[in-house]
Amino acid sequence: MEEIITSIHIHSVYSDGLKTPPQIAKEAAKYRVDVIMMTDHNVFPTGFNGYYNADGRRVLLMTGEEIHDKNRQPQKNHMLALGIKQDLSPAAHDPQKLIDAIRSDGGLSFIAHAYDPELPIIDEADLSWVDWQVRNFTGLEIWNNLSELKIRVTNNLQVVLFALFPQLMALEPPAQIRAIWDRMLNEGQHTYAIGGVDAHTFHFDFGPIKLEVFPYAYHFCSIHTHILL
Ligand SMILES: [Zn+2]
Ligand SMILES: [Zn+2]
Repeated sequence: MEEIITSIHIHSVYSDGLKTPPQIAKEAAKYRVDVIMMTDHNVFPTGFNGYYNADGRRVLLMTGEEIHDKNRQPQKNHMLALGIKQDLSPAAHDPQKLIDAIRSDGGLSFIAHAYDPELPIIDEADLSWVDWQVRNFTGLEIWNNLSELKIRVTNNLQVVLFALFPQLMALEPPAQIRAIWDRMLNEGQHTYAIGGVDAHTFHFDFGPIKLEVFPYAYHFCSIHTHILL
């Protein structure tokens, strides 16, 4: 049996990430990751799929997309589209149409950060999934680094603590999302679960002090989805 270690749900400069897809792939190759799945917001950059080498290891980069309706207020319903061949964001206004479009394109659809409460301390809105009447999606992202942060943090001190010591994060999939998965399975919905990192990397300049918070390297050492072939 072959075990493929994947890092799913990664943002690059094409949306709100800090590095280019090749830079991110070469970074991933330094860690025990075999495949990275890029998912920029409502954009599908082409020409980057393939193998990248660094430090004697190689990593396969696959481009997907994270799609949401930019006109919806408040913002909700982020969908990961993996294995697609084209930009499917034009279907974002209707979650069921989007799921069907991903399936028609040969891709897999995963509801991203299904429970994702607001965290006003860092100006983060509630980005949970709300349209639960949808059907025929592939599965749920039951674990997401940013959602875990938003669920666990209760004060400013914790934000600073987790930013400086991200190894204190990524403990387990949040109970609220596991409960959603349980409900679906009990209702007979065949719903697969994956873990996603939601990697962005944030850059802060405090005069001479430059700080990269939640760097890509951290994400490649945190939540993995293992594929057994
Ligand atoms: Zn998202
Ligand atoms: Zn994301």
